[in-house]
Amino acid sequence: MCESRTWPRRWAWGWAGLCLALLGWLMLAPAALAGGLIVSAGPAGEAGLQADAAVLSPRPSRALLPSAGWQTYRVQPGDTLAGIAARLNVELATLAATNSLANVNRIEAGQLLRVVPSSPAAISLPADGPLVRVQLWPWPPVQGQTLVLWLRTRDPISVSLSFAGEALSAVMEGRRGWSLIPISPLAAIGSERLAVGAGGFTLTLPVAIQPGAFETHAIPASASDPILSEAARVQAEFERMTALYSQVSAMGWTPRSRFRSPLAGSPPRTATFGSRRTYGASPVISVHLGEDFAAAAGAAVRAPAAGRVVLAEQLFVRGNAVVLDHGRGVFTGYWHLQALHVKTGDAVTPGQLLGEVGSTGLSTGPHLHWEMRVRGAAVDPLQWVEGE
Ligand SMILES: [Zn+2]
Repeated sequence: MCESRTWPRRWAWGWAGLCLALLGWLMLAPAALAGGLIVSAGPAGEAGLQADAAVLSPRPSRALLPSAGWQTYRVQPGDTLAGIAARLNVELATLAATNSLANVNRIEAGQLLRVVPSSPAAISLPADGPLVRVQLWPWPPVQGQTLVLWLRTRDPISVSLSFAGEALSAVMEGRRGWSLIPISPLAAIGSERLAVGAGGFTLTLPVAIQPGAFETHAIPASASDPILSEAARVQAEFERMTALYSQVSAMGWTPRSRFRSPLAGSPPRTATFGSRRTYGASPVISVHLGEDFAAAAGAAVRAPAAGRVVLAEQLFVRGNAVVLDHGRGVFTGYWHLQALHVKTGDAVTPGQLLGEVGSTGLSTGPHLHWEMRVRGAAVDPLQWVEGE
């Protein structure tokens, strides 16, 4: 369900690293919403986010599904997006994301906006049921984000999860647990079903996936052809990365973990996560699966969080590369480096020097490509950076 049928899988997921200095800084990623969604059997007012505690509806009514709940609003003279959001009781960031508005100050009278209800409004849990609390953040999720699910159960019991028909695992510690749900940058817009089962009870929630605002970049044939024409090498590297990212080590990352920036200062992004790409004259579109930052050759690239080096070597497409395993299926990758300062097997601490910015592999100039994977799926690392 995660990718368009017109984009062959090999292309959609295979390429990961090219920056064009001319592209400028794109401020398009919609901000994560602060509160999230809480469904609870706890007392009203818990955590101050109980507006959704109403009638039990183990299976949400059809009216909650975005397919039935999408509305439109025509912008009136004098309207502001914040004013519209307040009037319609939706989050400003959601309204901006739904309509691919990079600049919330730029709306015009007469413009038609799409509006999705912020949250399923009438779902709660039975007061004496096995599930006590379910919290989701960010809510609603945007393509390319990681949806975090926190759980609390009445007794220490096992929990089953599925999202969009695929089984997920939850990390349970006594009565509390969590799971990370990667939302592909190519995920279909609209409702996917999240099911949380415990003790014979199943809570089903519609998750209204919001569209990300993604640029399209054209990469010149002079840069891409010499690399991409070597299909067998490209494919072999892709398969190796896929195998690496599929490992799940038992300890490490939690939903409260955060990244520092891997680069000092606030370097501009030159290509954002999820941007759509064409290479040379090829009609095939791929998706950029990391964030590219402009930085001078030789600039220090540092570990954003604790982890273990599972790859540190020269690759064909990705150039000199480092991959860190942060645990629980969470990985980060650093491509196109000019020098490596760690080796496979090293345990790294936050801030430890990994390597130096360069332009090796499929790259048009010095930059850092930084990417994040959650159980193999590419997601935007910026969601997890402190202060973002
Ligand atoms: Zn890149």
